[in-house]
Amino acid sequence: MTLLENDPDAGLEALEFAVTRNLTAASAARREEILANPGFGTHFTDHMVDICWSVRGGWHRPRVQPYGPITLDPAAAVLHYGQEIFEGIKAYRHADGSVHTFRPDQNGRRLQRSARRLALPELPVEWFIQSLRELIAVDGDWVPSGADQSLYLRPFMFAKEAFLGVRPANKVAYYLIASPAGAYFTGGVKPVSIWLSEDYARAGKGGTGAAKTGGNYASSLLPQAEAYENECDQVVFLDQDRNVEELGGMNVVFVYKDGTIVTPQSDSILEGITRDSILQLARDRGHKVEGRAVSLDEWRQGVASGDIVEVFACGTAAVVTPIGILKGHDFFDEQPVGELALSLREELTDIQYGRREDKHGWLVRLDG
Ligand SMILES: *Cc1c(COP(=O)(O)O)cnc(C)c1O
Repeated sequence: MTLLENDPDAGLEALEFAVTRNLTAASAARREEILANPGFGTHFTDHMVDICWSVRGGWHRPRVQPYGPITLDPAAAVLHYGQEIFEGIKAYRHADGSVHTFRPDQNGRRLQRSARRLALPELPVEWFIQSLRELIAVDGDWVPSGADQSLYLRPFMFAKEAFLGVRPANKVAYYLIASPAGAYFTGGVKPVSIWLSEDYARAGKGGTGAAKTGGNYASSLLPQAEAYENECDQVVFLDQDRNVEELGGMNVVFVYKDGTIVTPQSDSILEGITRDSILQLARDRGHKVEGRAVSLDEWRQGVASGDIVEVFACGTAAVVTPIGILKGHDFFDEQPVGELALSLREELTDIQYGRREDKHGWLVRLDG
């Protein structure tokens, strides 16, 4: 494996994973049946990765084992205090059959930043990427080959120490599971409607908004239910100064009339890798890109005046989604529809599926 440049973990030895094969793995016929119509997040591959961590032993006992329930002590800290983080990254099958993932060093670094915020141990980026390879080595056949299909990889880490006192856990587990994913949008990409959450926040200044942690999602469920009650697909959150933050699990991007692209930036927003990649592709095309605060007023007035010509959301699961409607308690703003979001979406997915040159060296091969 090539070592990452400028990585503080460079020079680490690869881990030795003990592999236990699943003796009741799905048959090839059953697997093909699932891959023909995988949906999202309901089917799982035959194996999972598990690495233990303790204060005394550091990272140890790396394993690939049959996918199945985890045994936890009822006093495990994660069940009480939510000390947990996760990642989301996909594996793509190229036309020649090879399996690649996209910028895994970025996910590995983000997992480390999330770990720091949640007082969890930092898994070296090299070992994070190795865990993806180890799972693909046994479950590579689960990477689907249909249009816009992928194998969604879900790394996560949690406090497993049985202790009800409040402090960072001394025992932690890292797991990696995988779930085949179909095209997010069946019948083409459709603009989504967004509900403006005025009564609930997802993050606060100095909070955990920039970390990928389950608690942020737990607190987004009630506002998301409010969005459904108001016939909207997703919810957008504001910060305490009424600046736009993001959706529950996707970043927001605005396109201005002069071609400038603006995305909200603050330490309460999750730094999306899809957003970073899309903005790089836009820069390559000559667009000016700005990360700064965007107030709700700037959004609404920009749309009303025609200064804002497109608004879209982005994240690994749905890639890029145009925003068609912004709705609040007392307003309903139709959003302008443009071509840029879908054209950037196509360029990005072409790179991910190996249909277009990977000029930035973003792809990492996982098999072979
Ligand atoms: C994961 C996530 C995103 C998108 O990040 P990607 O790296 O693009 O998948 C955006 N917002 C939140 C809150 C997230 O958890």
